[in-house]
Amino acid sequence: MGLDAVGLTRDMVDIKSVSRWNNVAISEYVESWMKAKGFDVEWLEYTDENGERKVSLVGKKGEGAGGVGFFSHTDTVPGQEEDWDPYRSEVKEGRLYGRGSCDMKGPLAATMIAAAAVDASRLKKAVIVAATADEELGGAGAQQVTDESRLMNEALPAYGIVAEPTMLTPVYAHKGGATITVTANGHAAHTSTDLGVSANFLIAPFLAEIAAMAKPIKTDPRYMNHEFNPPSNGFNMVINDYGTRSNVFAARSTAIIGFRPMPGDHSEALLEEIAQRAKNYGFDVKTHINQGYRITPDAPVIQLASRLTGDRKPETVPYGTDALRFAQKIPCVVFGPGSITQAHTVGEYIDVSQLQQAVDVYTRMIETVCM
Ligand SMILES: [Zn+2]
Repeated sequence: MGLDAVGLTRDMVDIKSVSRWNNVAISEYVESWMKAKGFDVEWLEYTDENGERKVSLVGKKGEGAGGVGFFSHTDTVPGQEEDWDPYRSEVKEGRLYGRGSCDMKGPLAATMIAAAAVDASRLKKAVIVAATADEELGGAGAQQVTDESRLMNEALPAYGIVAEPTMLTPVYAHKGGATITVTANGHAAHTSTDLGVSANFLIAPFLAEIAAMAKPIKTDPRYMNHEFNPPSNGFNMVINDYGTRSNVFAARSTAIIGFRPMPGDHSEALLEEIAQRAKNYGFDVKTHINQGYRITPDAPVIQLASRLTGDRKPETVPYGTDALRFAQKIPCVVFGPGSITQAHTVGEYIDVSQLQQAVDVYTRMIETVCM
């Protein structure tokens, strides 16, 4: 009957769905799979800033609020095709290889299989399985589902599982992401004329100010949280003068300053301070911040995941997820198969045993909460 987590993961890995482009093909696949297995399916869509169609799906089995919601994304980071064949999945020595196998088509498949396998007539509360767009680009798909999904909001789950790879360790908190994009504008000219204004010279004093902040920030308690490893925020800067040659004055020079906000830290103030320093020079400034996520480790959803994995101790992770979006309405645990160290790599894989364990533990979650 095709309730095979490996086969389902492979089918999805073989459909390219890099965030830069539309995810219609993978969404059509997931939609028809879910419909064939008796889910109600809702199709939500928006057009992104590049004019690409971005689809998020919400599948539902059973009726009634207070059940379980499983959340995954269908987009992936780029395949790095020059280094391997990322869209031809392969199983070798207990590992399933391919782009997205771990982050996170494998985890998505495990949630789909677990929900498909339950007998809908035994459900007293609904099971929701969502497959969203654009997690790798900031979570707009998850936000659309949170705000607009009729199926999910009519049968709002009390237990949210964001199935990102954690090796099935319950995760109750994660860091966020913040960027300040600063652009200085000069005047391009060939240096033989000596008539230009180098944007690099304009931005350099600002860069020096930021560089001087970098070291103290690593140890400043305002930007640390010892629930995390590492406890500091990964303060970073990248610079770009758009490939200007050494005999040309740069017309434009951009610096992106980034760091990872943590719950309870002073990230907003830091973002503001850096933006203000850039504005003092008259530069163009754009800021973006995704807060970190935290729920108490005593929350029922964390405790449930812990109990079903033999009292595994809840942990924190240093990377962001869509939990931030879904948690606007549903308490969430980040809890999925596979290792994050495999995500975004050439040779990405997930252990087949992890996939099977995930199907098992997700099934027991549904039985515990919804039956
Ligand atoms: Zn992911």
